[in-house]
Amino acid sequence: MTTTERIPVLDLSPEIDALWDELNAAVQRVLRSGALIMGPDVAAFEQEAAAYLGVKHAVGVNSGTDALVIGLRALGIGPGDEVITTPFSFFATAESISAVGARPVFADIGPDSFQLDPDRVREQITERTRAIMPVHLYGQPCAIDEILVLARDHDLHVIEDCAQSFGARVRGRHTGTFGSVGAYSFFPSKNLGAFGDGGLLVTDDDAVAGTARMLRAHGSRRKYHNEVLGYNSRLDTLQAALLRVKLPHVDAWNQGRREAAARYGELLRDVPGVLAPAVTPGHVFHQYTVRLPHADRDAVQRELDGAGIATMVYYPVPQDQLPVYRGQYAAAPHSAARAREVLSLPIWPTIAPGVQARVTRALGAALA
Ligand SMILES: *Cc1c(COP(=O)(O)O)cnc(C)c1O
Repeated sequence: MTTTERIPVLDLSPEIDALWDELNAAVQRVLRSGALIMGPDVAAFEQEAAAYLGVKHAVGVNSGTDALVIGLRALGIGPGDEVITTPFSFFATAESISAVGARPVFADIGPDSFQLDPDRVREQITERTRAIMPVHLYGQPCAIDEILVLARDHDLHVIEDCAQSFGARVRGRHTGTFGSVGAYSFFPSKNLGAFGDGGLLVTDDDAVAGTARMLRAHGSRRKYHNEVLGYNSRLDTLQAALLRVKLPHVDAWNQGRREAAARYGELLRDVPGVLAPAVTPGHVFHQYTVRLPHADRDAVQRELDGAGIATMVYYPVPQDQLPVYRGQYAAAPHSAARAREVLSLPIWPTIAPGVQARVTRALGAALA
């Protein structure tokens, strides 16, 4: 990349180039097989993903959103129930709770974090609470230990939204394997991305896995014997075949992201006004998100754009303040503050140090 070339926020072409022949071979194999719906690649991917994640069951579904919805349904959560989650996430998190007829209840994030604060969760537990849905936002494991203690003490399920945390670990154990259900997304920009939509529900519970398999196939365990209202939410065979090619590389890619994050940390040490995220071993840096607490974040983003550098704001409006829930929830202060401060810088596994230096130089100039 030359010094004038535009820097995207994400560049997937190096990993696609590296696997080009294998990806093409997988496509051709599926096209020739004629087994396009629930073909053998789906079961094979489910087994390989379960082995990688260290979990008993992996159920391929059509999206991360569906993994959350089907997970909630499989745990029997629905109308009259409350599920506690974070305001500071992509809307699919709260949307899944509303979609099953339950009520999302928002607990704020920590004063200096991006993640659900267990102390705020505790305050929101009522007799209607059935589950806690934490998000491992930006690929950083949330305070799962404290959340599990709360869940155990109050007899609640934990449904982990792992859409941004494929490959992230806590003490060597994968996110998504601590709670009753973990939900992964294979949206193309995620750490393990498909070439279209896809998702995965993981669980150690045989009954939950069985119900999830039933729900993804129109609520039928046996064809044409539909038991309940379900979904058409199968993982596409072509996507499963392509994901099988990418899965063995995800740890190396995540390591590349961590190294890039460490490099950003060094480069940003000399840039005043930027709070950089800590680089921890289990973090997979789906996003490298800095806080600009004293700046006009939107003006900084425009200036970077003018310098040919794409950045993103995840998320400008907390879920509880979106038009869909207008007037229903009082704003959570730390989530509202983060929404004004955050800026996600370009990151991908093979981002070049020179590209990162250009980004941090431009950021420093925009803040000066
Ligand atoms: C991407 C994402 C989802 C939804 O995943 P899809 O596969 O796009 O449905 C859910 N939660 C979070 C936090 C996400 O980032």
